[in-house]
Amino acid sequence: VAAKNGLFIRKKMRWVDAVVKVRSEDLVDEKMSAQLLLPPLPASILAQSLKLAKVVFDVSKSEVCLLLHFHEATGYHLTVPLQEVDPGHVHYDASMHLPDMMCVGTIHSHGALRAYHSNTDFVDERFTDGVHITLGCLHRYPKFTMSAEMAVNGFRFPVDPSWFEGLKTLGDSYYLEDAVLESTEIPTSWLTAIDHRHYENKSNRPRRNRKSSGYAFMQTP
Ligand SMILES: [Zn+2]
Repeated sequence: VAAKNGLFIRKKMRWVDAVVKVRSEDLVDEKMSAQLLLPPLPASILAQSLKLAKVVFDVSKSEVCLLLHFHEATGYHLTVPLQEVDPGHVHYDASMHLPDMMCVGTIHSHGALRAYHSNTDFVDERFTDGVHITLGCLHRYPKFTMSAEMAVNGFRFPVDPSWFEGLKTLGDSYYLEDAVLESTEIPTSWLTAIDHRHYENKSNRPRRNRKSSGYAFMQTP
């Protein structure tokens, strides 16, 4: 038992049921680690995310966020939660869950910026266990940059690019085969979930006086 006042062990035996402190001299060093147990991510999932990110980028240069779900029998599913987007932020409703499915992560885009996990992302993902994927450099589409990390209890671990099926490398960028992108469609319902309200169509530029908005927290898987 890891408690605020130290480590305890519960000894439940035939003759006693006790909770006692662990003696520090009994302990050895431990190294943090995390092994991703999910099956490889199909190229179609990344392709759908990338295409949505590109569509949203073309409309208002904005970011966008998808939730990644997993079911043992049916595999991966993406949802696009209701969200307000602009070129620097995305604020989404993380309460939209799929029955019987586990939300195992997020995929969000950074527009023309490179893919990395910003301080905002770190804060948002601090208590949100899951695989968090950032897509960037969408002005270079179909090439893009990507960063993928697991967040577990506020600690972060890299996700090996080999987890992504069909992912090709070109210099510092990634791409997917044309055939994968061409056979991938985006549900129209996804687009209706995205509100570009922070974007001024007239000037083609983001409002300067917008309020910064952070992420809502998604359900911990
Ligand atoms: Zn971000």
